[in-house]
Amino acid sequence: YREELKKLRDLPAETRDGARRVELSANIGTPKDVRGALENGAEGIGLYRTEFLYMDRENLPDEEEQFQAYKQVAEAMNPRPVIIRTLDIGGDKKLPSLDMPEELNPFLGWRAIRMCLDRPHILKIQLRAILRASHYGNIKIMYPMISGIDEIRKANAILEEAKNELRQEGVPFDENLEVGIMVEIPSAAVIADILAKEVDFFSIGTNDLIQYTLAVDRMNEKIAHLYEPFHPAVLRLIKNVIDASHKAGKWTGMCGEMAGDPLAAPILLGLGLDEFSMSATSISQVKKVIRSLTYDQAKQIAAKALEMESADEIKKMLHEVLEEKE
Ligand code: PEP
Ligand code: MG
Repeated sequence: YREELKKLRDLPAETRDGARRVELSANIGTPKDVRGALENGAEGIGLYRTEFLYMDRENLPDEEEQFQAYKQVAEAMNPRPVIIRTLDIGGDKKLPSLDMPEELNPFLGWRAIRMCLDRPHILKIQLRAILRASHYGNIKIMYPMISGIDEIRKANAILEEAKNELRQEGVPFDENLEVGIMVEIPSAAVIADILAKEVDFFSIGTNDLIQYTLAVDRMNEKIAHLYEPFHPAVLRLIKNVIDASHKAGKWTGMCGEMAGDPLAAPILLGLGLDEFSMSATSISQVKKVIRSLTYDQAKQIAAKALEMESADEIKKMLHEVLEEKE
């Protein structure tokens, strides 16, 4: 079985009839993770979580240190794409170097892009480092925890400042670098048609999107049984995001855990998801499911799921589909 999955590594993630091909990418936290990504056949990095550079230390990392880390990943993956997510701190992740307030509801609090827009110098340093690294590979920028259009515009204004500074300094960077957002707050998923005009791509963060849509703390074991990726409300939001992006000529990926769940693959494929980013070790399993279906079958499965009333009903159908394919 392991041998079979290994053989899969170099095959494309396309449907059995060849009608649809998607991109399977890896989530990473440090440059060291690139090796595992490549070994498992990742076609790109769909989510580079940059928090680890900032955590467990007294001071913030400077531009040079960040540049070296991002450049290392860009070069190792080149020409494959690397999506670097700007700092997503707060919630469960605190920084000793920043005076982070104790909050009653940290997951609803001062985190990610909210903190970065309040401390624009921190974001600007990171954006400069990412831009500089973009000269050495295929880098894209992604903002976390976007709830509406103003945050995108404010972040992009800081990005423009960073670009102008580098131009004046004569420092090269990728002038065509794509900029996207994580869709992980329900408001962003609902107004995806509005946001699609402002970005190059979406990446659906199901870990947070599920938590916020269902009002289920993703860390609380007592209510873990309510944390349900296949909840019809979650599926409708996912569909809305993908459709809105395609209507605007943009693309949508997914970098939450759901993207690496073989059970979810038929629906996500059928809904038209363009890129699946997951922990590297899940890539072959998801690829196997994608290669076992025709695109029409996947679309039918997705359409059927969207008509169902409960997660249990949807999961039962999906288990039957996968068993048939075994
Ligand atoms: C997500 O929310 O789905 C996600 C990928 O981001 P994180 O798990 O880092 O919050
Ligand atoms: Mg998240």
